[in-house]
Amino acid sequence: MKVFKFGGASVKDAPAVQNVSRIIDSEKGNLAVVVSAMGKTTNLLETLVRSYFDKSEKKWEIFARFKTEHLAITENLFGEKGTSEPVLAQFTELEGKLRKNPSFDYDFEYDQIIGFGELVSSVILSEYLNFAGISNEWVDIRNCMKTDDRYRDATIDWEWTGELVPEVFNFENQRLYITQGFIGSTTTNLTTTLGREGSDFTAAILGNALDAESVTIWKDVPGVLSCDPKKMDGATEIAALSYREAVEMTHSGAQVIHPKTMKPLHNKGIPLYVKSFVNPEISGTVIHSIDHKIDLPPIFIFKENQVLITLTPIDFSLISIEDIDRVVIFLLEHRVRITLMQQSAIDLNLVLDSPDAHWEEIFNELKEFYTVRYNTGLTLITIRHYTEEVLDWMVREKDIYLEQHSRKTARMLVKQ
Ligand code: ASP
Ligand code: MG
Repeated sequence: MKVFKFGGASVKDAPAVQNVSRIIDSEKGNLAVVVSAMGKTTNLLETLVRSYFDKSEKKWEIFARFKTEHLAITENLFGEKGTSEPVLAQFTELEGKLRKNPSFDYDFEYDQIIGFGELVSSVILSEYLNFAGISNEWVDIRNCMKTDDRYRDATIDWEWTGELVPEVFNFENQRLYITQGFIGSTTTNLTTTLGREGSDFTAAILGNALDAESVTIWKDVPGVLSCDPKKMDGATEIAALSYREAVEMTHSGAQVIHPKTMKPLHNKGIPLYVKSFVNPEISGTVIHSIDHKIDLPPIFIFKENQVLITLTPIDFSLISIEDIDRVVIFLLEHRVRITLMQQSAIDLNLVLDSPDAHWEEIFNELKEFYTVRYNTGLTLITIRHYTEEVLDWMVREKDIYLEQHSRKTARMLVKQ
């Protein structure tokens, strides 16, 4: 069997859903399809969560927009027949939720609402496939994707998920399943999410649990590129990458795939294809086990919105392991991601990636032990397989705040 994953851009409107259906139909073997919320729906639902939590009546306006946008798509898809019952049932359920008072746990409420993007898009895709004569079964992934209760960033219970997934996706009377990315559920069946952009990870988990022949992520680019064409000229397509290279690239900020996707596939040696839903015939990129050296061009990755903080102990003591330990744990508790760390005698420099963190509060707590200096709005540029020429060219006319080089990777934090 194979796993296909379609992201938001691939199902953003009716022609896009029809295109995805053609790609699904061209695969004749057993197939599990993971789909994300349509277009930018998750961003819209984030605003809905906020106003629901704040008990603002604006929630109804946002809900109406969510509903109208999807109904416009189903009208285009189903024509005369109109929207089907299972699609409407999702809106009714969300409406019921919005009528109730929120609890005091924002992250919990976030997960109870945000997943409707995936629920609705997967129902629409499944219903459309039926309408087009392509028989399939819609699966509520929460029945088998089991997690802990760390809302918004849940951890997979591998053992339980590994047992349940093959029971649900058993391919006994069905060769095609349509399900959601991004969501899971706790032991008590409350909805959780795997973190923004987590649908790729869902596809990899299914691939692992089902011993898939391959997993394919369908994108609006022809495969993995040497840089983001929106940010730099000269992007070249990369035909093959090792899991290791892919995890380094994506962890540095390459947005083509979620960094968590590689481990479940690496562990079972399952190849991951990145292909274009615009040109499905192009071979794209394969990420798999490569045990020989391959020549790769310099690969550029830009991670924007980084914050640099420099901590200096107030009493002029040297930076110790205890300092690092304390600061790292403190930041993790505030869900702040650390992208890079560098220390000198009395300075601890940390590059942080968390656009929505409460910096004021965080800095105030750190000020108890350290003098805190910080810069915001920085970009971390990572160059894998760098050459001296490339570095010289890169640093020209840039204000560099911090630099770090290892054998294959150069990193520089700049103000652009
Ligand atoms: N819809 C979710 C998001 O936008 C999950 C995903 O697309 O992977 O973050
Ligand atoms: Mg996405």
